[in-house]
Amino acid sequence: MVDLKDLTIKKAHKALIKKEYKVIDLVESYKKVIAEKDPTYHACLEVFSDIDDQVENAQRMIDNSNTSELAGIPFILKDNILVKGHVASAGSKMLENFVSPYDATAVRKLKDAGAIIIGRANMDEFAMGVSTENSAFGTTRNPFDKSRVAGGSSGGSAAAVALDETLVALGSDTGGSVRQPSSFCGVVGFKPTYGSVSRFGLIAMASSFDVIGPITRTVEDAEIVFNVIRGTDALDSTSFYPKEPNKVSEKIRVGVPREFLSMGGIDERVLKNFDESVERLRDLGFEIVDIDLPNIKYALSAYYIIVPAEVSSNLARFDGVKYGAHLEGKDVIDDYFVTRGGNFGREVRRRIILGTYVLSSGYYDAFYHKANAVRDRIKSDYNKAFENVDVIITPTTPAPAFKIGEKVNDPLQMYLEDVFTCPVNVSGNPAISVPCGFAEVEGEKLPLGLQFIGRPYEEATLFKTGKRFLNESDGSI
Ligand code: GLN
Repeated sequence: MVDLKDLTIKKAHKALIKKEYKVIDLVESYKKVIAEKDPTYHACLEVFSDIDDQVENAQRMIDNSNTSELAGIPFILKDNILVKGHVASAGSKMLENFVSPYDATAVRKLKDAGAIIIGRANMDEFAMGVSTENSAFGTTRNPFDKSRVAGGSSGGSAAAVALDETLVALGSDTGGSVRQPSSFCGVVGFKPTYGSVSRFGLIAMASSFDVIGPITRTVEDAEIVFNVIRGTDALDSTSFYPKEPNKVSEKIRVGVPREFLSMGGIDERVLKNFDESVERLRDLGFEIVDIDLPNIKYALSAYYIIVPAEVSSNLARFDGVKYGAHLEGKDVIDDYFVTRGGNFGREVRRRIILGTYVLSSGYYDAFYHKANAVRDRIKSDYNKAFENVDVIITPTTPAPAFKIGEKVNDPLQMYLEDVFTCPVNVSGNPAISVPCGFAEVEGEKLPLGLQFIGRPYEEATLFKTGKRFLNESDGSI
């Protein structure tokens, strides 16, 4: 049994190269933890049993010294990322038995690097939610307090990393679904610049927002994974990554959007922790600058108009004829109602109805069009702020993890969970959530996250800031 505590990609890579243990030992150690812990926490939907070839291949790469840092590193993938020959259900009954005929581009790149895909992680249905309570296959529990949610929609991925069920997980982030569960589970969650990781093989939620991102224990691990999966891809026309490496700002200036933080509704413990984090950054030598993002308060509203619009369009294909599990009705028309009504859960149906409404003739201009105009304003707010700073910080979530069941009947409260994360998807900028301490709630210590936002394609600056904040690097800023 490999000691998994505090293991990182670098450490595991070193040990594999020095032959301290074999790839199979590492994989079996994680599988053992899954067998012990997953019946309680339900982070995984499936553990793959046919990975012998991948393990052998990785071991060969290591033995021949022909290896990348990811050779032999175990990954669990959110259930909306396609792996050839395996089910990808997107947490939905609609795709419960769908077996993917091909690998997502990100998966192909991981496999080429020798990574081992050991299973698939639970998620909110079609990535809609903040708690995994919308999964058709049960809720994932928070590793720090079983009575609380792990966050969502990549709740299974974040919990799996926090529980040591895997070294790395991939999630997808449309409005915060990598960062928010990472914050709730005390791990690092990274959302790349929109388009910098191919969406080919990612089951679509909202195509102009969706991006795949890694969930890891350290910022350095997130960086290693990102550098493997990023890149322009001929199979996704919206993908792009510049060829030249981004320069990292020499002296990093950190912007604090004070007015946005004083909007109310934010947990006192989160605000106190945030102020302490700002002071810590100042002590580390970062320059702290107050900034203004005047239209950011409209981001959540714009998000919840444009995203449902895209959802209603993307999910139209699941009718039980072209795609999705067919349910039999009284006649052909009834087949559609029964299939879509029976196979989609409540939240998905709510978004489809909302999206169809905002796109309908007569309302298109009033809602969809206006929300897109707001989107432009938000992008220019960020661009303007980034003339004076290199990184912007906010808490990742307005409060620590909430109780299972606490918000299920209040969708608006659920939506407010994304107030700090979704503006970044509206603009397309990259952002990372790093653990920044704990809040004491009813005798339990619950993790909190700090979000760093960067300029498009300046991921390197985010990694540098995050590593410094978590003491992963030397003293340079
Ligand atoms: N919680 C947000 C939503 O439900 C974000 C989802 C996501 O990032 N996939 O829309």
